[in-house]
Amino acid sequence: MTDAFDVIIVGTRCAGAPTAMLLARKGYRVLAVDRATFPSDTVSTHMVHPLAVRALSNWGLLKALEETGCPPIDTYAFDFGPFTIAGAPGTKEAPVAYCPRRTVLDKILVDAARAAGVELREGFTVDEVLIENGRAVGIKGHSRGGAPVSERAKVVVGADGRQSFVAEALNPESYDEKPPLLAAYYAY
Ligand SMILES: Cc1cc2nc3c(=O)[nH]c(=O)nc-3n(C[C@H](O)[C@H](O)[C@H](O)COP(=O)(O)OP(=O)(O)OC[C@H]3O[C@@H](n4cnc5c(N)ncnc54)[C@H](O)[C@@H]3O)c2cc1C
Repeated sequence: MTDAFDVIIVGTRCAGAPTAMLLARKGYRVLAVDRATFPSDTVSTHMVHPLAVRALSNWGLLKALEETGCPPIDTYAFDFGPFTIAGAPGTKEAPVAYCPRRTVLDKILVDAARAAGVELREGFTVDEVLIENGRAVGIKGHSRGGAPVSERAKVVVGADGRQSFVAEALNPESYDEKPPLLAAYYAY
């Protein structure tokens, strides 16, 4: 069976969408899927740090972010109660950060991937990674309420977050693992 795509990417947020976009800009046939539909939120404090801002600029996407009205941030302050650590996080080349909601940032990234020629399917859940001879060759999944479909590619990328379904399916050797040292509470 021939591969319909060069690459299939599972997950289209800040890891998956730019990976898909950059590969498509190089001429690869890319399918990117996400069970979410965009704009969509996810747990995050939203800080796009200066080096990431530089990446957005290099990719031609910073203007789209600025046009949302999201203001640049040139000073950080971490207030621990008894003391505060404050300073400028940027460099000369990348002086500022931005703090857009993920509903804003992820939509810009998804739209840019589509504009680059990625076939991007929202609301598509991957149920299975197809494995042949010990290697991932595709995915099986479904759109909301849809019948199962299979797609094949030379490469399958798991950009599906911390509890990666793709990683679990492939069970790769783990390395450089560290036990957690603390827990944090997050509120909006
Ligand atoms: C409280 C908190 C605050 C944070 N603050 C910051 C910050 O200020 N700045 C910063 O840079 N980072 C921050 N992070 C880290 C940042 O949120 C993550 O590193 C980033 O979201 C990871 O992006 P990702 O694209 O790899 O995965 P995710 O953002 O987790 O996206 C994975 C996508 O995969 C999709 N998916 C998963 N399984 C499937 C499946 N089976 N089929 C189809 N789709 C699937 C999901 O729907 C999801 O859209 C924070 C994290 C947390 C928890």
